[in-house]
Amino acid sequence: MLLFTPGPTPVPQNVRNAMADETMHHRTPEFEAIFEKTRKHLFNLFKTDEVVMIASSGTGAMEASVINLCKNTLLSVNSGKFGERFGKIAIAHGLKSIEIKNEWNTPVSVEDILNTVKANADIDAIAVQISESAGGLRHPVEEIAKAVKAINPKIMIIADGITAVGVEPIDVTNIDCLIAGSQKALMLPPGLAILGLSNAAITSIGSGVGYYLNLASEIKKQKQNTTAYTAATTLIIGLLEVLETVEANGGIEKLYSDTATRANAVTEALVALGLHIYPSTPAKSMTTIDDVNAAEIRNLLKTDFEVNVAGGQDHLKGKIFRINQMGLISNYEMAWVVNAVELCLAKLGRRDYDGTANKIFNEITFGMDK
Ligand SMILES: *Cc1c(COP(=O)(O)O)cnc(C)c1O
Repeated sequence: MLLFTPGPTPVPQNVRNAMADETMHHRTPEFEAIFEKTRKHLFNLFKTDEVVMIASSGTGAMEASVINLCKNTLLSVNSGKFGERFGKIAIAHGLKSIEIKNEWNTPVSVEDILNTVKANADIDAIAVQISESAGGLRHPVEEIAKAVKAINPKIMIIADGITAVGVEPIDVTNIDCLIAGSQKALMLPPGLAILGLSNAAITSIGSGVGYYLNLASEIKKQKQNTTAYTAATTLIIGLLEVLETVEANGGIEKLYSDTATRANAVTEALVALGLHIYPSTPAKSMTTIDDVNAAEIRNLLKTDFEVNVAGGQDHLKGKIFRINQMGLISNYEMAWVVNAVELCLAKLGRRDYDGTANKIFNEITFGMDK
């Protein structure tokens, strides 16, 4: 079965092998050397002033960012389940929460953010997904960050990049906290989260808030290549292997351009079948289709063609399906996925099979369309 869900994503064989050794003690020079190398690669990936790794799923990093960077009112963007979560975290910690809510296919507008910030002087942090995975939507995070900093540079900008870091280049000039999680674009099992931080964020964090998720404690330790509490040693060993593999495959810029080409080829192939892309501003992390037969297509993909894609949640259950684009994905696997979607449409009597999807995917991927 091909795993094509936008998290978890497949873990490459060499990464699984690297994680198969005996458990290493975390307070040793051997592990600290691995930690130091991993940090170097992370600085290259995040391009932020500091990076910290914590043993938690992505939500742990979301919570850490909110409690350490927001002291008063959090403005969050709810165009899906993950954006909604930021507001819930703020409320759970007794912070004030203001939310801008849109349908799951609609990005937040920069104007709405600016108007809300101007109308609420208490807002001291803004949290937004770069890629909102609920509907495969790209928010204009860099533009939001730039516009907000222009009117109030003190407002902390938290960018959830769990399905964006490692997918596309992100301009972190005006971003204070950039979050990634292991099981999405980083091709690892779940359980490790990473935060990239600006110097302004580090100043704002001061002595930190909370205990396990106190970022000040982690920053202090991780600068010395160790962690405040037991490190997720196995996952960090796997992360180093992932980042070295990306380097060996032409580097992060090549991964970005391969991902962009693949996402575009899949989009064109599926649109040529008469399918519709759900989000008005699609993220490169996944291809999201809304369709009356979404549930049947997803089911047939699994039972007849050995392809596992994700469905929708909440009000989009049975209405969309989402195909992963994150990680090092072989073209021959992706070609099979679009071909399998076309076969499903034929089985459903929607369209005669003629190999259109495969043809368009290959033409774009291999430059035969020029
Ligand atoms: C998956 C995801 C999360 C939540 O991460 P968990 O690892 O499930 O806690 C947050 N934000 C986005 C955009 C995600 O895709």
